[in-house]
Amino acid sequence: MKKSILLTAAVLFTATIYAQQTYRRTLKLMGSRFDITVVANDSLKGNAYIDLAVKKISTIEQLISSWDAKSQTSLINQNAGIKPIKVDIELFNLIKRALMISKLTDGAFDISYASMDAIWKFDGSMKEMPSEKAIKASVKKVGYQNILLDEKNHTVFLKLKGMKIGFGAIGKGYAADKAKQLLLSKGVVAGIINASGDMNTWGKQPNGDYWKVAITNPLNKKNAFGLLPIKHGAVVTSGNYEKYVTFNGKRYTHIIDPRTGYPSSGIISATVFAPKAELADALATSIFVMGIDIGINRINQIPNVECIIIDDKGNIHTSKHIDIEKI
Ligand code: ADP
Ligand code: MG
Repeated sequence: MKKSILLTAAVLFTATIYAQQTYRRTLKLMGSRFDITVVANDSLKGNAYIDLAVKKISTIEQLISSWDAKSQTSLINQNAGIKPIKVDIELFNLIKRALMISKLTDGAFDISYASMDAIWKFDGSMKEMPSEKAIKASVKKVGYQNILLDEKNHTVFLKLKGMKIGFGAIGKGYAADKAKQLLLSKGVVAGIINASGDMNTWGKQPNGDYWKVAITNPLNKKNAFGLLPIKHGAVVTSGNYEKYVTFNGKRYTHIIDPRTGYPSSGIISATVFAPKAELADALATSIFVMGIDIGINRINQIPNVECIIIDDKGNIHTSKHIDIEKI
């Protein structure tokens, strides 16, 4: 009798494992395509989990959006040079981490790049290179050293009038991390939050395999390098192949060097593997500005972080622990 109960339990347990399936939804959030995948026992649960993630990402969007004039981020920008603004602890800490990444990358990454948005447009509307004068003027308002945080009151103050911050290079990664964290806390065993190529994963597929990500060569879209198992958690690719301009035969991407005011060139795409999508997102953007040599050098110094860079000639450059032949 006892034995048969045990056996039934074992059978039930096995049945539960095999009943697990992936549930997936694609939708537009933060102005980008999001694919949310969860592993759950039935579609009711799967959908409820996805709903939770969507709600979380929407809340984050309301906090960090530069388009919504009422967001806390917009309030900070509207009060640049005027007064400090008290913000939610979540936003305060995000800005604090962004400043740490600025220091780590010698200012290549800088959320105050945003005032340069006024002169550089990467939507096809820009027909000629902005003047040297305009570029010099815009870069005067840039500098993470002028973002002042007050730990006690949780206020953020942009010191210079006309200064602006924006989370274009870190926001999607941040949202992916937060959605993952929430679902993990609800007991979701595995999933992927993919924010237009900025993704964080956890657990394994129901068949026991790691999640895999395809790394493609943007210069030859048909030719994927292969499927790479994701063990570290997050993988982020920077390089929006639509957002660039060409002047005098040189291709400039939408990532701007905060120190010179000029968009970066030379790199087509940068993929970063890291434990968190936020860090991977920020570093992928920074690599464009730092360039191949400094970029790889910096990545090699950070534990558990790796990168694959493709330059504008189609050459592949990787950090120390990535062996492209094995991919
Ligand atoms: P994508 O996934 O679109 O390639 P990235 O994560 O590479 O995006 O971020 C690019 C965006 O980051 C730009 O569109 C702009 O909003 C912002 N940005 C541009 N230059 C910088 C910079 N030097 N530091 C921080 N953010 C930047
Ligand atoms: Mg980024």
